[in-house]
Amino acid sequence: MDYMYTGNLLIVDLERGETEERLVDEELLRSKLGGAAVNDALFKEFESKDPVAIGAGLFTSTMIPGSSMSVMTARSPITNRKMHCPIVNFAGAELKLAGFDFIVLHGTSPKPVYLWLHDEIADLVPADGIWGRDTWQTADHIREEQGEERIQVILIGPAGEKKGSIGQLVVDYWSEGDKVGFGKRLGEMGLKAIGTRGMGELELADPERFLELCLKAIGEARERIGGARGIDSLMPSVDLKNFGVVRHRDSACFGCPWPCRTFAKYNEPPTVLKEALEEPGVLIADAPGFAALLRAGFDAVEASRLMEVVSRLGIEPLGAAPATEGLGFADAKAKLERMGAEQTDVGSVPTVNGACRPDLFSPFAPNGGEDEAIALAYILGICPRYAARMGIDRELVSQLIEACTEIEITPEAIGSLARSVLH
Ligand code: SF4
Repeated sequence: MDYMYTGNLLIVDLERGETEERLVDEELLRSKLGGAAVNDALFKEFESKDPVAIGAGLFTSTMIPGSSMSVMTARSPITNRKMHCPIVNFAGAELKLAGFDFIVLHGTSPKPVYLWLHDEIADLVPADGIWGRDTWQTADHIREEQGEERIQVILIGPAGEKKGSIGQLVVDYWSEGDKVGFGKRLGEMGLKAIGTRGMGELELADPERFLELCLKAIGEARERIGGARGIDSLMPSVDLKNFGVVRHRDSACFGCPWPCRTFAKYNEPPTVLKEALEEPGVLIADAPGFAALLRAGFDAVEASRLMEVVSRLGIEPLGAAPATEGLGFADAKAKLERMGAEQTDVGSVPTVNGACRPDLFSPFAPNGGEDEAIALAYILGICPRYAARMGIDRELVSQLIEACTEIEITPEAIGSLARSVLH
């Protein structure tokens, strides 16, 4: 396809330590558009190799509001079925702009490695020195080693390395959308991290029309979102206890008009706007995980500190929180550290009330959403939380697709494509 993608598919054979670049099949892209729908086809093609597919959506990393997401599709070690997991923050967009629209990983590396993607170049880099280190140290190491502090990193901590299904993929430093054991999958593959820096540009068929439609969508989004911001706007029914003591700022992912994440600052006063410390606190991006720690009996300051512990270790906090119930802070921290240091498994995907199709999509969005709209979000690269809040206007999507690719697709056909992902 001439527009919106580079057309590059990267295949990484971790067993052999080899990378291969191919062009994505043109007809596949035109018919499936991207994201979870293309990932499904790649997953099927490589099924005998138990692959992990990562794909950008058609709209990922554009001006379209909420277009922050790439999608990871793999067999969940918890359900043993294929599932999709969102990669948001800035990593989802950077993956696409680094020059690889789709990536298939398979095999097990004999020695730990990380994948470094930039400028349409893919390198497997030895990771012996960072295997065993926590995610914050690992992200810092990769940024230092590659000499660029804006590298986005998708990575695992000690919990994933131990191949426990409580292992969670972490994005940069933060616990995020993986609640289906993909941290374990990367651990099984000997893949510590994927670092990505994207400087590419996307070609559009009709930039003026695209800009006009985007500005309309942004205006409507701003009006509907109003002043809503922070984790309390994402989970209005949750009692955040004394969160005001550490609440610092609300934060949005790439191109999102609804900053649904909140930074908690506990190592220096939250009133200090400029951060003097390197590690002043934690971004609460995994709001359901944070709520689970509150429910386990911790106040908001303790729960924030425990979010740092799980983020560093790469432990999924919803699955871990019940094990800390009734413990004091120090004992809970020690318990989590033990869970990260040994193989810890969970029996099921944790429940997030209201999450859409938790049998298929990692339950990252506690604000629900209609099945077809969420499936469409996973195809287009729109964050599912954003799609759940705003819905997806299929007529507008049809117009945007034509403006950016010249592909004519009716709203009905878009709905049909979304339903194909739901099976
Ligand atoms: S809705 Fe929240 S999680 Fe989703 S893109 Fe916006 S800020 Fe990120």
